[in-house]
Formats: sequence, C-alpha cells, structure tokens
Amino acid sequence: MQAKTSNNLTLVTLLQVSSCWGEYMDDRVKKAYKLMEKCRICPRKCGVNRLKGGIGFCKAGILPMVSSIHAHFGEEPPISGHKGSGAIFFTHCSLRCVFCQNHPISQSGEGHEFSIEDLAKMMIELQSQGCHNINFVTPTHYMPEILEAVFIARDKGLMVPLVYNCGGYESVEALEILDGIIDIYMPDMKYSDNAAAKKYSNAPDYFEINKAAVKEMYRQVGDLKIENGIAKKGLLIRHLVLPDNLSGSREIFKFIAGELSPDTYVNIMAQYYPCHLAHNFPELDRRITAKEFTDTVKLARDMGLKNGFRQVMGTIKRKRIPEWTDNLKQLDT
Ligand code: SF4
Repeated sequence: MQAKTSNNLTLVTLLQVSSCWGEYMDDRVKKAYKLMEKCRICPRKCGVNRLKGGIGFCKAGILPMVSSIHAHFGEEPPISGHKGSGAIFFTHCSLRCVFCQNHPISQSGEGHEFSIEDLAKMMIELQSQGCHNINFVTPTHYMPEILEAVFIARDKGLMVPLVYNCGGYESVEALEILDGIIDIYMPDMKYSDNAAAKKYSNAPDYFEINKAAVKEMYRQVGDLKIENGIAKKGLLIRHLVLPDNLSGSREIFKFIAGELSPDTYVNIMAQYYPCHLAHNFPELDRRITAKEFTDTVKLARDMGLKNGFRQVMGTIKRKRIPEWTDNLKQLDT
C-alpha cells in the first residue's frame, strides 16, 4: 500500500462503488462530504472549502493522513481483546491540547496521505489479521473519508465492529450521519470547566459541545455490550484526571450518571504527565498524586458509576501511545 502524495481529490470513488449498500451509502457519504464545502465537520465550523483544498484549524486536507496502522493491544480489555484492536491513527486534530501525548501526530502533522481505497484496504487487512474491531483514532476531521472507505470495505467483506475513538469535541450534525454505522463510541470527556478547556485545548465551548455529542453517541449505541469479553456495541467514555482537578471530574460524572446512565462504562485515567507544552503552565507541570486519583475514583463511585476501568497508579509508563491493558482494574474494585 502506497502513501499518496497528491491532493487532487474529487469525490473519490463515491459513485463507482456498487454494493448492496447502494443509494444508502451514496446519500450518507454525499451528505458527509457536503459538510466539507464550508467545513463544519467539527464544532470549529471553520467554513473553508476543504473539497477545493481549503485548510482549517485542524490542518487536515481532503485525503486522509494516517500515522500508523496496527493491531493495538493497549486499549481497554474489551476493545483490545486477545487479538488486538485494529487501530488506524489519523494525523491532525481539531483540538490543541497543550499536554497532548500524541502531539507529533495530532499537532505536528506526522503521517502520510492515503487514498480512500487504501484506507478501505487497511480495514480489510486489520480484519484479516484477526483484530476484533477497526479503531479509528482521532477520526473527527476525516469523517467523510472514513465513511466512504467503510462502505467500500464493507463491500469487500468488512464485518467487525467500528470504533470511533475521539476527543469528544464533535458536531452532532456530523455524528447523526454515522448513526447505524459506528458500533462503539469511545469519546473523551476532558473538562467540565470551559475556562480550562479554552486555556489548555483552545476549545472555549468544550463542555456543552462535549455533552451534546456524548448524548447523541449514547442515543445511537447505548450502554456498552460485551460478549465473551469483547465489546460489540455501545459507549465507553475516557476521562483523564488532570492535576488540581482541572478536568472538573465531579460535573462530568454527574452528567454521565444523571443524563446518560449509571451503567455507562467509564475509564478513569491516571496517565497524565507533563509533555508537549504543559511545562509552560505551572499548574500542569507535574503528575497527579495518588490521592488526587483515588479521590476521583471515589467520586465516580459515589455518583453511582460502577462499570468501567481505572488505571493503577505507579504502573504507568511514559509511552507515546498508551499501553494500559496491564494497568487497569475494574472501576468497582
Ligand atoms: S474539521 Fe477542521 S476544517 Fe473542518 S471545521 Fe473542524 S477544524 Fe475546521
């Protein structure tokens, strides 16, 4: 599979694919690409015409850029299972987190352009390797391209669940197009305090946008369903605990338990460490303490959340791509 260097994409193979998905596919994909004309794929609503080469806040062009593709054994146990999660890491991001652990990929553009057909082939290859799912990591800004590739891949036999592994800063309008396509949503809920979201991720409306997006995801897929240890469908929320409660965990857990369901799966993560630009912010320039983490886990339990995972302090290694399978315990233990 060759990385593409051309940026001369028209509407790709959209009308060339003949499959049982037929018109259904065309309508969805057309609708998705239409959002790129005055780009509002994500809540930034930059308004650039990405179909004609416009570049917005996320820096994404029209062809999907991918930094790595592999069977990933470091996701949550029901996602990685014993054969791995078929992870496709997309370049660029619609957020600008100053502490991003993947900043070379998300903010510095590490990766290569691929055609839609090659993106579809990646999915088929990952399925052939036995991966339990296809895991789109930071997919938001390439939603139309991913959707088109999914239909091509399905035409070629793709059957495993699809995971939308995102920062949670999503447009409901874009998510609605994915209704019935994505099986597992894995969004972050990063902040409940918009001042923090503005300062550290350049997203001054994060919490309202995030809540609306997660509600839409929950409407589509409901609580996480696990069969024989492997996730098949549903919502799994990730919450990274920041120093000094900058993530505002209480309001986030209150929302999850009260407005979604106390049965929601949540992964409470302790892996924060100051990287990228975090050293410029004294309040972010340290790891969290054991007490900060245990207090946060207790808060989740006190709010009635019992499903999911918590990382184990002291077992987390500094890795660019988190590997936490060995570092997780059930949330209710
Ligand atoms: S996807 Fe990129 S270009 Fe489109 S609205 Fe979001 S940040 Fe802007």
